Amino acid sequence: MRDCLFCGIAAGDTPATLVLERPRTLGFRDLNPQAPTHVLVITRDHHADVGTLAHADPTLMAELMATGHDVAVQEGITGTGYRSVFNSGRDAHQSVQHVHLHVLGGRDMGWPPG
Ligand code: AMP
Repeated sequence: MRDCLFCGIAAGDTPATLVLERPRTLGFRDLNPQAPTHVLVITRDHHADVGTLAHADPTLMAELMATGHDVAVQEGITGTGYRSVFNSGRDAHQSVQHVHLHVLGGRDMGWPPG
């Protein structure tokens, strides 16, 4: 999709630090990390948010979650634990309108989140 930041990363037009590449998904480091491990996992296809993706392509939704888990394995944080987050809409402060799974870990994450 034109003018979409994460479509640009998926296409290789916008630089990012890639950590895991799959045919339909991609993991890269968040530019402003909130934990020692903070990776964003996206679908290569454009979907605005998690609800849209889940209804449009449940198989791809499952692939996104599996890629997130594989990132956590690769980062070595499955033993200590990690958090998976989707922000949707204004109140959740979704700032990029292309579905992205935050994979966060490497420290005590605390609950509830801010
Ligand atoms: P959200 O607030 O859930 O929409 O998350 C968007 C995330 O994208 C934020 O954590 C940003 O730090 C991150 N971000 C924005 N631009 C980039 C970029 N060019 N490369 C990597 N992460 C980015």
